Amino acid sequence: MDELASLWRRARVIFRVKAIEVTRLLKSVRQPALIDPIMTFPNALENLNVLAQHTLLSPSALHDDVPASERATHTVSAARASVVNILQGRDPRLLVVVGPCSIHDLAAARDYAQRLKALADELQDQLFIVMRVYFEKPRTTVGWKGLINDPRMDDSFHIEEGLHLARQLLVDLNDMGLPCGTEALDPITPQYLGDLIAWSAIGARTTESQTHREMASGLSSPVGFKNGTDGNLDVALNAMLSAAQQHTFLGINGDGQVALTHTRGNAYGHLILRGGSVPNYDSVAVAEAEGALLAAKLPVNIVVDCSHGNSRKNHALQSLVLKDVVGQIADGNTAIKGVMLESNLLEGSQKLGQPNGLRYGVSITDACLGWDATAAALREAAQRLRSLQR
Ligand code: PEP
Ligand code: MN
Repeated sequence: MDELASLWRRARVIFRVKAIEVTRLLKSVRQPALIDPIMTFPNALENLNVLAQHTLLSPSALHDDVPASERATHTVSAARASVVNILQGRDPRLLVVVGPCSIHDLAAARDYAQRLKALADELQDQLFIVMRVYFEKPRTTVGWKGLINDPRMDDSFHIEEGLHLARQLLVDLNDMGLPCGTEALDPITPQYLGDLIAWSAIGARTTESQTHREMASGLSSPVGFKNGTDGNLDVALNAMLSAAQQHTFLGINGDGQVALTHTRGNAYGHLILRGGSVPNYDSVAVAEAEGALLAAKLPVNIVVDCSHGNSRKNHALQSLVLKDVVGQIADGNTAIKGVMLESNLLEGSQKLGQPNGLRYGVSITDACLGWDATAAALREAAQRLRSLQR
């Protein structure tokens, strides 16, 4: 009987693996055949390249399915106020946005969050810690686009399931008292999840996009704008100027209907230095960024992303970047209000092959610091800041 059960289990695993391979193969074979729709359907005028559309549940239906607890909503509003106090100089602590490059495994994310919550409590006199809870990944070319888009990581794109899982995780983390930060990439998802986000980023690939600037102008959390992937600061400064203004554009409302959306403008835009072809976390680059913000009459508020172009994609260098940045604060810099670290339970990254062959606690997007190195780097930063008695 046991043998039979084990055979059946193996058959199921093999079959699933095969099914994924076949889907991938079909996709790669199908792709070239799709590129001549104008000649293939000479009489069709619209939706030539749309294969299918499925109606999704509305934002308010998701809120009903996964409601926020009282403690969770308190965590969000208190955290937003802390971030604003830090940006406006009333709270001397350093904002730390730390966590995985992307969330793909909910159990590992909860495990990570438990540890981070304990560390956040331990270091709360110097650091205000927000967990990176990134569900949407912008890709340089193609690849897995995050938990919302493809929660099963097998190109099955169960987005409604992804939205439920993402919202439940955000409710749970906020319910633990751990605030969450995310990249706002898809212009529709904030209606589903925005009430649970304490801090948002607009990524390096979308800072120049009008759609994202409009969206940022309506986000309920403070929002940081990354410099461009090539290191260009102007795109982020222009984004800050734009997102601080009112905008009118097409969006969706809580019922999921297309809605003319008028926004107030986001008063808490700030600059995130993430490096480009060369790093830009050093004191010279930070001074240049301060000058550019001043010249543009923007608030001189900077968050340094210790990863991405600033670590030259070598995750282990993030600790050194953090040390350097804290050193600049020790030397009297008041423009640096926060830092960002990409960190996971275990260091490095792994390729997304078979979803059930993944190593627990390891990133499937950018390489991350492991937990021990993260805790050590943050404890050291807090200790250094403590000694300044700011
Ligand atoms: C990220 O924060 O994981 C990210 C994609 O950043 P960037 O937009 O700076 O590349
Ligand atoms: Mn990343």
